[in-house]
This record gives sequence, structure tokens and C-alpha cells, in this order.
Amino acid sequence: MNIAVIGTGYVGLISGICFAEKGNHVICVDQDINKITALQNLVSPIYEPGIEAFMERNVQAGRLAFSSNLIQAVQDSELVIIAVGTPSLPSGEANLQYIEQVAAEVGRAMNGQKIVATKSTVPVGTNEKIREIIAQQTEQPFDIVSIPEFLREGSAIQDTLHPDRIVIGLDNRELEAVLVELHSSFTDQIFVTDIRSAEMIKYASNAFLATKISFINEISNICEKVGADVTEVAIGMGKDPRIGPSFLNAGIGYGGSCFPKDTKALIQIAGNVNYEFQLLKSVVEVNKAQRYKVIEKLKESLGQLNNTVIGIWGLSFKPNTDDVREAPSLEIVEALISLGARLKLYDPVAMDKFRERFDHPAIEWCGNALAAAANADAVCLLTDWQEFKELQLSQLIYLMEQPILIDGRNVYTKEQIEGAGLHYYSVGRPEST
Ligand code: NAD
Repeated sequence: MNIAVIGTGYVGLISGICFAEKGNHVICVDQDINKITALQNLVSPIYEPGIEAFMERNVQAGRLAFSSNLIQAVQDSELVIIAVGTPSLPSGEANLQYIEQVAAEVGRAMNGQKIVATKSTVPVGTNEKIREIIAQQTEQPFDIVSIPEFLREGSAIQDTLHPDRIVIGLDNRELEAVLVELHSSFTDQIFVTDIRSAEMIKYASNAFLATKISFINEISNICEKVGADVTEVAIGMGKDPRIGPSFLNAGIGYGGSCFPKDTKALIQIAGNVNYEFQLLKSVVEVNKAQRYKVIEKLKESLGQLNNTVIGIWGLSFKPNTDDVREAPSLEIVEALISLGARLKLYDPVAMDKFRERFDHPAIEWCGNALAAAANADAVCLLTDWQEFKELQLSQLIYLMEQPILIDGRNVYTKEQIEGAGLHYYSVGRPEST
């Protein structure tokens, strides 16, 4: 199939690459000329393991191209996938400005029958709005479908090539066969439903996962007070197939470009029909408070934080990505600076993106984890990158001013901590010295 993908962010770029990998002809379009120029030079503007090899292979095979010419891309395609951002407005509602602009541009570019698919996460009813916007611009026949995206940054290529399920929302049943065929090379777990339900499936899925995280974080807070170990609790709970073991890792809470914005948007979607989503409001509040547990633990171990030196390991919202959107690190770093601490920051790939969002004279940017720990009064681990798990913790006692390690992601085992001579604080587990 000839496919145009509008928006070459985490979702659009990966989807485009993966559709090309399956033999389709794909043009990825973005209004950001710098991104397109980088992509044309086979340089990925995002970090995602393995991405450049996939890009190169498909470009060289003539199946994948990058362009800023939306009109040409739409005219050359039968399927147009919209994958632009839908960030939060200050109210929490999804900002549909980009998607509406793209819909109008797609409408104006239309030169024949097209299928327009929305991959961006959009509130229920948005696809109908997109249909109206396109119809105002063109007399050409077209169909609208909703194909929400479930990939996870950090494993986005594998998630897209081997998804658990693909959801297709449509109201013209004649499209079912062609869309199922297009996606059947990825999985046979294809669920076809109506457009509004597809839109809701995406929000409900993210809200449920966020709920699981806030739930286990609340359990971890109780564990700390009653002397239980949340890691053991999660293992015991997860053995029940009705619960399952995933998303039960206690820590400093979720971040990223999806869970924070999608939970807030769903609260707003409910509010717009006079429904108060009490459970989800609590999930959001618990998540916000959880980030500050790191600071409480620092205060517990160091007293006041003015003039202390704190090493920070990990800035991205999760490992294997450079994405720092709504990362807990942003709030924690800002709060520590406001308390007078000086910070030594290290992340394997996310330092540039972090610095674009936040920089301060109290920050020293470090080249590796041990450099960030050197002469520090405490180190806080905020992202569970594999390289942090493999560190020899016994080195810290020689490097640090005070050997205090706050593990915000519970990455270290008792065996790793024992004998390292650290004051070790984790989340929901007994302290070790
Ligand atoms: P992103 O911000 O990384 O990328 C969006 C891209 O769209 C940018 O490159 C931007 O320049 C481009 N764009 C904006 N307006 C444009 C226009 N008029 N014409 C052409 N290009 C335009 O966003 P993302 O993380 O890829 O997310 C996209 C959507 O997918 C969002 O709705 C998000 O909620 C959803 N989603 C994201 C993820 C994820 O993990 N990132 C997962 C599932 C769903």
C-alpha cells in the first residue's frame, strides 16, 4: 500500500518505518524541516534502540522516504496516517490544534479516494471533527478510521512489529478487509470496533496502567510504615492471573508523554459529560506526591539540603529513551535546586533533551554515573537504565562525601547492597545500612 504518515515523532516515525519494513511504500512528513533534513541523512531525531538500521534498510530498498511536502505525500498515497502530537492544555484537555491543522491540510491536498487514519491519541468524538474539517476542504470521497497506537518508547520498534493487539475503529464496514489485511502482517490479534470505542480504548488502557502504578506506589508507602517489602508483595500479587505481574513496580511514579497527559485528558472527557472520574483523579494525585518521596528521603538522611551536593542518575522518564517529557526528574531537579542543593546530573542519552527544557548554574553535567557520584552527599537513581544496575556499588564509598543512595526505582537487590557500605533507601522496602 502507498502510505503517508504525517508527524515524524516517536509514533509517526516508528509506524512509518515498520509499515515500510512490511513491504509498503511510505512517505513520512513533518513540518519541522530540521527533523526532515536529519531523517533524509539517515539520522534519527529520536533515540530508539535499532532505529537507524531499520531506517537505512528501508530507505535503501526504496520503500521509505521523508518529506516536508504534505500535499505531494497525500496525493501519492491511498492511506494517510495522522500521528501529530496532542499535548495537554493548561486545563488538562488535549490540545487538538495540530491535528485540526493537519486535517485541513490533508483535505486541501486530496486528489481522489483516501482513507485517513488517526494514530494520535484523541478524545472521543475527535475523529468526527476531523471528518467535518476534511469535508469542508474537499469534494473528494474519503473515509475516517481510528487506529490508536500502543507502542512503548524504548521498545517501540519491537512493539510495533509484534504488537499484543491492533485496534481498528471504523464505521464503514467495507474498509475492514483492506485494513485487516494491511495489519495482519503484524499480528492476528486485530480488534475491529466502532470509532468512538476505539478512541476510548486508548484512554482507558493508559488510565488503567497508570492506576496500577499508583496502586502499587500507595501499597509501597504503607509497606514502609508496616515493615513489609513491596517487591515481595508485588511478586505474590502478580502470580494471580487476574492481576498479572506487569506494572507493579513501585517507584517514583509514571511520567512521559502519554500517561500524565492521557489521564488528565480522560478526567476532562468525563467532566465534559458531567461525570467525575474520582478514581483517576486520585491516581494523578498519588503520582504527583510520589515524586517527592525522593526529596523526603534525602531530607531524612541529610537534614536540610542547602549547600549539599546531590548526584542524579537518570533523567529520561524511563530507560532506553531520550524522552524527558513530564519525566519525574524535571520536578525533582527543580525542587532540589529551590532547596539550595547543587546537582551533578548524568543520563546515558537524555542529557541534551533535559538541558533544552531545564538548565541552571547549580547543575553540573557529568560524563558517567561515577562522575555524578564523586564528592556527592547523596545519589538519587531516578531512571532504571541497565548500566546503573551493573555498577559496582562498593566504589561509591570511596567516591562520595557521604555514601547515601536513594534508589527511586528499586533496581538493586539485597545482595548488591550488602557489603557496599551504603546507607540505602529504596521505595517500599526496608532500609539497609
Ligand atoms: P511527537 O511530539 O514526538 O511528534 C509529533 C510530530 O508531529 C512532531 O515531529 C511535529 O513536528 C509534527 N507535527 C506537528 N504539527 C504538524 C503539521 N501540521 N504537519 C506535519 N507535522 C506536524 O509526538 P509523539 O510522541 O509521536 O505522539 C504523537 C501522538 O501519538 C500523540 O497523540 C500521543 O499521545 C500518541 N502516542 C504516543 C506514544 C508515545 O509513546 N510517544 C504512544 C502511543 C500514542
